[in-house]
Amino acid sequence: MAILGTINPMLMAGIDFDSDTSWRLEGYLARGGYAVLKEILKSETGREKYISVIKRSGLRGRGGAGFPTGLKWGFMPAFRGGQKYIVCNSDEGEPGTFKDRDILRFNPHAVIEGMLIGGYLMGATRGYNYIHGEIYEIYKRFEEALGEARAAGLLGDNIAGSNFCMEIQAHHGFGAYVCGEETALIESIEGKAGRPRYKPPYTASNGLYGAPTNVNNTESYASIPFILKMGAEAYLDMGTVNNGGTKIFSVSGHVNRPGNYEVPLGTPFPKLLELAGGMRGGRQLKACIPGGVSCPVIPGARMMETTMDFDGISKAGSSFGSGAVIIMDETTCMVKALERIAYFFFEESCGQCTPCREGTHWMYQIIHRIEHGQGRMEDIEVLDSIASRISGNTICALGDAAAAPVESFIKQFRDEFVYHIEHKQCLVPLDVQRAGSGFFKATV
Ligand code: SF4
Repeated sequence: MAILGTINPMLMAGIDFDSDTSWRLEGYLARGGYAVLKEILKSETGREKYISVIKRSGLRGRGGAGFPTGLKWGFMPAFRGGQKYIVCNSDEGEPGTFKDRDILRFNPHAVIEGMLIGGYLMGATRGYNYIHGEIYEIYKRFEEALGEARAAGLLGDNIAGSNFCMEIQAHHGFGAYVCGEETALIESIEGKAGRPRYKPPYTASNGLYGAPTNVNNTESYASIPFILKMGAEAYLDMGTVNNGGTKIFSVSGHVNRPGNYEVPLGTPFPKLLELAGGMRGGRQLKACIPGGVSCPVIPGARMMETTMDFDGISKAGSSFGSGAVIIMDETTCMVKALERIAYFFFEESCGQCTPCREGTHWMYQIIHRIEHGQGRMEDIEVLDSIASRISGNTICALGDAAAAPVESFIKQFRDEFVYHIEHKQCLVPLDVQRAGSGFFKATV
């Protein structure tokens, strides 16, 4: 997988995707890398000034929750003594999401610089990058990039000749989706089973090893040097009002060129679809999940009028998520698609909360029987009822993530569920389904 297209790029500007050296330290330095870190380390002005730039830039977490990064940094007790930690969440495991691995593949030093800047501004001296277990090659690359930074005096003791010392380690996960939840990720780094913690206390006061910890997504850390270099206003100008900067969207499904595309926030969805080569086989867009399978599905016609930003997608009835755009054409059976999504969440539930542990299993079983011609008309209401009882009643957001697709698929494509139950077969004839490429089979 490679980045396949960009419009006015920021994170991927100047990168030669075919080069063996562009990702290395020499390539990053040639693009002006580590200049911001060095300037901050030399600066006599207070650290608050830089955090305020991040706050004004409006950068919202790029991992899924969309929480304002500057605000999060402000929660860290920078002047409290003792150990503090910076954690990068590269545990992208949601079906449809594959952008962080390309950031680490093509621009690992931007992530390292962002983490070092975060460490300096928040008073942390240790950092961990938790990398998803199924992308081991990226873990090795990040380790290599850390080695380069260390050898160049940009990591470890007295960074760039300053008094600032910080060490960063790559940490290799084992593929559990729930470890993308920040407290489960922290448990996993501590060597325990990756199960989410009750909150509060929050990680800013009680995170890794009980110490103040800031957790951000890979794309968020990688954006930091660029934002501080260009300034908050220039960053905001790259996008639209309230939605500044660029975003890497992972486009998968029934398009001609599935892949990662970096575009300014606010880009109209049809433009992104065009970048991805348009619909495969010239078919019609039936539906789109705009942020990963945990986000509500949007019917195709409405999606064509949506802009790719937090506000536009929310107005269309879904969530921005991690920017994993899953395209489904008219050959897709929506019951089958939901069955696969429901199975994923059932498999990935850590089992701590009864609504999630039992509810994901029930939902999968019911959707499975509808798909296989054994559904009952009351199943539709039962599914809705189970989903509503999971939402908001669990320790972590995986419960809500499992409920949202069920609720939205039924709301937007109820006729297909009814048809399946009444006719014991799909509304989309099997030969039409076979003519398409099948849900998720076309993913990259
Ligand atoms: Fe585990 Fe699900 Fe509860 Fe999250 S919501 S803690 S995944 S059981």
